[in-house]
Amino acid sequence: MFLHHLRINDSGHLEIGGCDTVELAEQFGTPLFVYDEMQIRQNARRFLLAFQKSGCPHQVAYASKAFSCLAMAELAHEENLSLDVVSGGELYTALQAGFPAERIHFHGNNKSEAELRMALEANIGCFVVDNFFELEMLHDLAEAYRKNVKILLRLTPGIEVHTHEYITTGQENSKFGFSVKHGQSLMAVKRALAKPCYELLGVHVHIGSQIFETEGFIQSIQMIRKHLDEIRAETGYEAKVLNVGGGFGIQYTDEDRPLPIENYVQAITEEVKKAWNERGLNIPEIWVEPGRSIVGNAGITIYRIGAIKQIPGICKYVSIDGGMTDNIRPALYQAKYHAVLANKADAALEETVTIAGKCCESGDLLIQDICLPKVSSNDLLAIFSTGAYGYSMASNYNRLPRPAVVFVKNGTPRVVIERETYDDLIRKDLRKEVYATS
Ligand SMILES: *Cc1c(COP(=O)(O)O)cnc(C)c1O
Repeated sequence: MFLHHLRINDSGHLEIGGCDTVELAEQFGTPLFVYDEMQIRQNARRFLLAFQKSGCPHQVAYASKAFSCLAMAELAHEENLSLDVVSGGELYTALQAGFPAERIHFHGNNKSEAELRMALEANIGCFVVDNFFELEMLHDLAEAYRKNVKILLRLTPGIEVHTHEYITTGQENSKFGFSVKHGQSLMAVKRALAKPCYELLGVHVHIGSQIFETEGFIQSIQMIRKHLDEIRAETGYEAKVLNVGGGFGIQYTDEDRPLPIENYVQAITEEVKKAWNERGLNIPEIWVEPGRSIVGNAGITIYRIGAIKQIPGICKYVSIDGGMTDNIRPALYQAKYHAVLANKADAALEETVTIAGKCCESGDLLIQDICLPKVSSNDLLAIFSTGAYGYSMASNYNRLPRPAVVFVKNGTPRVVIERETYDDLIRKDLRKEVYATS
């Protein structure tokens, strides 16, 4: 069993960031997201240090969609990360946290005019332009604001990587980006260069997520370099920035074999050096956009176990006080997780059970067939590696209030997002008296 940075204390309880998870559950209630702050910082530092060692100019932009809140944006700032946002809401969060606008990059395949205006007014560092519609709209707005804007063009390189199809993005048939093969990207470069308000920094590719090998990154760098040669031949333009996206895999279960962060960075920087040196070109600034690999393994979710149901000879269902509302990934793409009983973390494994959420969906199962110690109602279940795409994808289905999020460090917890209350759930609901008077 892997525990990452977690340990089991003398009481046999799971401990994270020096805090006893049983005490955290008692103090803050369940379900509860707990992040080991130092683990997030270390993940960030490993990316930056690996780039520093490579000698390549770089930016490491945390993909805030993996987990976004004020405290996370503050932490990203403190760790000298840049920040990717994909919506007005993520941008607003970053700005409210005091994140420096010049290090914010705006992604997305359908940024609205209002979102583009907001980003222009904030003077963000870079727009990653996804399509021709945006290329025109952003320019019109930039002219109206009399501003020059820095852009990258998102390219679809036609690369397939081995991961779930819902999280591959580099293949040719994708909703994202300008297709390299169909000449769209060359046309986009020409149009961008012709527009006076644009400073074209370079190109962006993101081939997918939860990727366990370096091959896909290497292929996409080679592919993009060849394409940049074509662009250079046609227009004389050379990219200053090469953004190779995110998608670095993490460990969810014993079956996952992610590479150390350093290996991804090394493979990327070496391939870029090789391809650029061969052509006698200056190394571009290399940008990466890790989301999952910054926060994923730093977070766990603690649940209280309630009903337990044995179907003789078939299955034992162990129900928890959360479910698809705080972790949609198993239902959305059959994601697998590992868990322990937090209050019996060193007890012998005795039975195979299925962990069921409390939502009214048969598909609301968080883990199928996991081996645990003898489970009793009121035990605490800790699911590992829930730091990415857990809280950020949370919903209020069945009108479940979203859990609290706690950061722990050196034995001290700090609430960074409060648990929603029932009043929060009806805050935006209007009663019929409102219609009567308006
Ligand atoms: C989602 C996304 C990322 C982050 O992906 P992770 O798998 O969380 O590292 C980075 N860049 C883009 C463009 C994305 O869409």
